[in-house]
Amino acid sequence: MNKAELLSQTKGVVTNHDKLTVENLHEKCMAIASNLWWSWNPEVQQLFRDLDPVRFRQLDHNPVALLGEFTPERLFERVNEVVLLSRINQAYRRLKEYMTDRQTWASTHAGVLGAKPVAYFSAEFGIHESLPIYSGGLGVLSGDHIKSASSLGIPLVAIGLFYAQGYFRQQLNDAGYQEEKYVDTQVENLPIKPALCPDGNPITITLETRTGNLLVKVWKMQVGRVRLFLLDSNVEGNRPEDRNLTSRLYGGDERTRIRQELILGVGGVKALKALGIQPGVYHLNEGHSAFGPLEVIRQYMETDGLAFDDALREVAMRSVFTTHTPVPAGHDRFTPELIEEHLGPLREKLGLSYEQFMSLGRVDPESTTETFCMTVIGLKLSRTANAVSQLHGHVSRRMWAHLWPWRAESEIPIGHITNGVHSQSWLAEQMRTLYDRVLVHGWMDRVGEPESWKGIYNVDLGELWETHNTLKTIMFSFIRRRFTAQCRRRNESEAAIEQARNILDPSILTIGFARRFATYKRANLIFSDLERISKILNDPNRPIQIVFAGKAHPKDEGGKSFIQKIAQLRDDPRFANRVVFIEDYDVNVCRHLVQGVDVWLNNPRLPLEASGTSGQKVVLNGGLNLSILDGWWAEAYDGHNGFAIGGGTSHVSDEITDNRDVLSLYQVLENDVAPIFYNRDVDGLPREWIKRMINSIGTLAWRFSSDRMVMDYGRYCYVPAAGGLSSQMGPH
Ligand SMILES: *Cc1c(COP(=O)(O)O)cnc(C)c1O
Repeated sequence: MNKAELLSQTKGVVTNHDKLTVENLHEKCMAIASNLWWSWNPEVQQLFRDLDPVRFRQLDHNPVALLGEFTPERLFERVNEVVLLSRINQAYRRLKEYMTDRQTWASTHAGVLGAKPVAYFSAEFGIHESLPIYSGGLGVLSGDHIKSASSLGIPLVAIGLFYAQGYFRQQLNDAGYQEEKYVDTQVENLPIKPALCPDGNPITITLETRTGNLLVKVWKMQVGRVRLFLLDSNVEGNRPEDRNLTSRLYGGDERTRIRQELILGVGGVKALKALGIQPGVYHLNEGHSAFGPLEVIRQYMETDGLAFDDALREVAMRSVFTTHTPVPAGHDRFTPELIEEHLGPLREKLGLSYEQFMSLGRVDPESTTETFCMTVIGLKLSRTANAVSQLHGHVSRRMWAHLWPWRAESEIPIGHITNGVHSQSWLAEQMRTLYDRVLVHGWMDRVGEPESWKGIYNVDLGELWETHNTLKTIMFSFIRRRFTAQCRRRNESEAAIEQARNILDPSILTIGFARRFATYKRANLIFSDLERISKILNDPNRPIQIVFAGKAHPKDEGGKSFIQKIAQLRDDPRFANRVVFIEDYDVNVCRHLVQGVDVWLNNPRLPLEASGTSGQKVVLNGGLNLSILDGWWAEAYDGHNGFAIGGGTSHVSDEITDNRDVLSLYQVLENDVAPIFYNRDVDGLPREWIKRMINSIGTLAWRFSSDRMVMDYGRYCYVPAAGGLSSQMGPH
């Protein structure tokens, strides 16, 4: 951000030395609330919570919405009542320091990026529960990516879509079946404003299609030092059906989808141009934005007079493509008719024939029948491509080997950078306080480096255990509050509500399972043999309980039936007080669960989990992973830092794979997890368990942080793409 923008953001805000007035206090609070920097600074969130704890929770912890409920006068009164002024001043000063800090990782390691930022495209961004512009892991990954880029000082602008209704809110009906509710977002309650051209006017982008123009407006949001631009088709002048194009994530049909992707990719590149931003690198996070480089090529041809092939080479040098999908069917594909309708006008400007253009999205360029695949065009338009874990790298090279038929599989140019999570966003405050005591000073600014975490091996076992148990207690009050509210909404009996208020038992081993209910994640695998699992959960000496949460895609009846089966276990006395389903999984529910569980269960059908990240959030907070050796866990597990299910293989028959995996899961629960958890010493401490917690934190927290991940993108992708020295991406 340049100085003028910084000034405009803090315009009218007086410094600490000025006299405090009603107006400038309100403006100062708004300035803090308007930068998503608060989303990874718990002290700043606490400050807003202290203004009105109940409303803050009801408003999804949204400070802009909260401030909207205060007149400047009432805010002034309230701040004096609860003595918040010095904390507000301090937060404001810290934000200003953060925004102007020049001593960053990037200033020494990625100087070549200079004034030409990385343009990071993603269809979703999971930054905070109050911004419903994500549906799951991909979005949270993008959110964590830009938060780390901000702190590392990487010049980066992000481009996404503004979903006026976001993803759905989930409720289960009396039969335990998922119902979807869409809620209109109140724009005035979000920390966004219209993005402006250099001349100060709001931006409108026009996208040509064969069936008429599409207009798009652009919102701007500040995430630390990173600007996030969100494209929105709800513009006067668009046809009514087009005004709703961007209203929901992954809604509608193929035509909606290609139009969303046209907006994200081509619209995003046009928006950057209108904003006066000249990116040095284009990072396409998944195939949704892969039309974007075509518009960059067009711009190169227009301004530099290059031929298509030369412009493509130039643009591909600067483009980075990240693939996330290990199943062939999971890649976006469009019919030639949809492609020609939406890309036809651009194709003509590029001087390409219909067949030439279609071949960009086809594995076999000679084919006339293949559909147009977004991953294929993404790979063809970028020189640097990566998968999101070591194992996913192997899978991706095999899957796309036929794009480079003359190369050996190990020479297929797809490397890997394993995903990570933004530590500050997922770490519980109590754990952070403990780390402050045992880790090296300044660890928080270098969470992506192993040295920062060495101190954990000296932590007092009792202290770590106590901190974990405090967090577990907090999780239980959250679960009970939410579960009680669910039962009340369904008008259940007083007896049922009373039971909900005391659901589960905080003293026993607690497993968490929460993620999208895509069927390959096999949420109900553990219930394959109800008799056996009931014995395991109800073992009188070593009982276990499980908390579930997660949404199924509205069209995924398989996933919905998994949810229903789990919810209905309430009616079975063997499980009524051992299994609970929390509705409406989002970043907030996730944060509570990953901070409080003893064990995080992950049992996808190998190798379908490209990486997975929720288990990485658990590591930071002292929980242990119990997982299939898929995705990140295949490279993370070392025998002492968690638990593995199965031997890292799968059978061609899904049925055989599922049977083997669930047997292994039961065995690990009975022979390892429960005995180690319940084996206490004279002080009541499960020493071996706590040692695993320490190993987990010590070996994994830095490696699977998004700081490490973004530094890797910096070194192996951004710097080379910007013309700096190239380095070899992670070992194949
Ligand atoms: C972290 C996170 C995910 C990713 O979970 P996986 O287990 O990796 O699929 C999904 N949804 C939300 C809300 C998250 O916070």
